[in-house]
Amino acid sequence: MATRTVLHELTFLLGLLCVAKADTGHFWHVTDHHLDFTFDEDAVSCHDDLTPSQRGRFGNGLCDAPWRLINSSVYAMKEIAPNVDFIIWTGDNILHTTNESRDLSTAINLSTLDNITRLLRDVFPDVTTYPAFGNHDYFPDAQFPSHDNEMYQHMEITWGVWVNDSNFRRTFRKGGYYSSLIRPGLRLISLNTNLYYTRNRLALNFTDMTDPAGQFKWLNDTLAAAVRTKEKVIVIAHISPGLKGYEGFLWMYEPYNDLLNRVISRYTESGVIRAMHFGHDHDDEFKIYYDNKGVPRIPVFIAPSVTPWRYKDSQGELGRPHNPGIRLVSYDRSNGRHLDIKQYYLDLEKANRDRHAQWQLLYKATEIYDIPDVTAGSLSKARKRMLHSSKKHVQDYYERITLMADDSKCDAKCRYSIYCGMRYFDIPGFNKCLQKYPSLAFRPVSSCFKLVVALVVLLQLF
Ligand SMILES: [Zn+2]
Repeated sequence: MATRTVLHELTFLLGLLCVAKADTGHFWHVTDHHLDFTFDEDAVSCHDDLTPSQRGRFGNGLCDAPWRLINSSVYAMKEIAPNVDFIIWTGDNILHTTNESRDLSTAINLSTLDNITRLLRDVFPDVTTYPAFGNHDYFPDAQFPSHDNEMYQHMEITWGVWVNDSNFRRTFRKGGYYSSLIRPGLRLISLNTNLYYTRNRLALNFTDMTDPAGQFKWLNDTLAAAVRTKEKVIVIAHISPGLKGYEGFLWMYEPYNDLLNRVISRYTESGVIRAMHFGHDHDDEFKIYYDNKGVPRIPVFIAPSVTPWRYKDSQGELGRPHNPGIRLVSYDRSNGRHLDIKQYYLDLEKANRDRHAQWQLLYKATEIYDIPDVTAGSLSKARKRMLHSSKKHVQDYYERITLMADDSKCDAKCRYSIYCGMRYFDIPGFNKCLQKYPSLAFRPVSSCFKLVVALVVLLQLF
């Protein structure tokens, strides 16, 4: 009898433990919508002359997203997971154009941001969205200033409906960045990394060049405070630090990239940063910050875009095609640990053919990588498998980057660049990593910003 009672109690306790373990919350990550509000008329974002019927009902890889595509993505989020804890939205809502002064203005960009904000609010009225600016949100593109301006003022009011607290107001006007408490013990930090973007020409003349808008110092102080108060942090921003995966260049001016890495590396061992989420690349990628003992510490996720628009370089060469994507993340509410990622996508060609947008699950990260969760340790195992197991692992990863829109082959250079880019967030580390692999002569990336390198190195911040 006594044994039965003990067993009963043990079963009850195990049940309680399972319930405690299952405190799983979900959030959506959406990014890079790039609305072409002229899609049904001139479609100014399109690369070539396409007739309206060739553009497709839900869009075309040669153009930015029509409203119909963006609208369907938000309603798909609602249908797939309506009861999320929050949404993160990492910017770039404005169309690409070769004639910016004709097609865009501060007023047009602000109204586009307001419209997509309104859509998210209408469809998810009880859910907080945490936004971050993308480089295209500003007019002119990428020229974010490190001081108060019309865009910060306007968006402080629009986005203040979600994150209207003193922490938000204190810094948003200054530089478009903020932090906000998601729940007790879990904080969100939204950075404006556009200040460091290599296409931001203002950065060459910032009066506060060593720390634009005081964001580095603020980030350092906010992370230090979180360590003290035992909070965990999720960091979001548009442009990620480190190298653009297999292409091997930095998005940020090198000194700013290095400074951001330096601040983050100070907090790797503490485990305060649970994950970092970015957009900008229009690709699906992950990376990992390791501490200086080589222990994997922070998972870094780059989410694919909603727009299908393909980059075209100055020689007229088009980037890889990619399908539109939306991402659902599951996490442990009690400590912010990231548990899984479900990546959804729209097969754009099929949607146009069927005249119906059927968003579907492409993968569940724990299943495709055969890992228990998506923490840095687990992702590090997936990364090693890509190098040491069959080439299929990295080829599959390479195709998923485009959400299965492109099955071109990832050769040895591509394979090792992915492997090294996943771990090294600076040019010397990346090049050193590549040198370990035979027959790879990788072009060193030059920085047009050597003057600032010297300045920043001299000014040993913090
Ligand atoms: Zn973008």
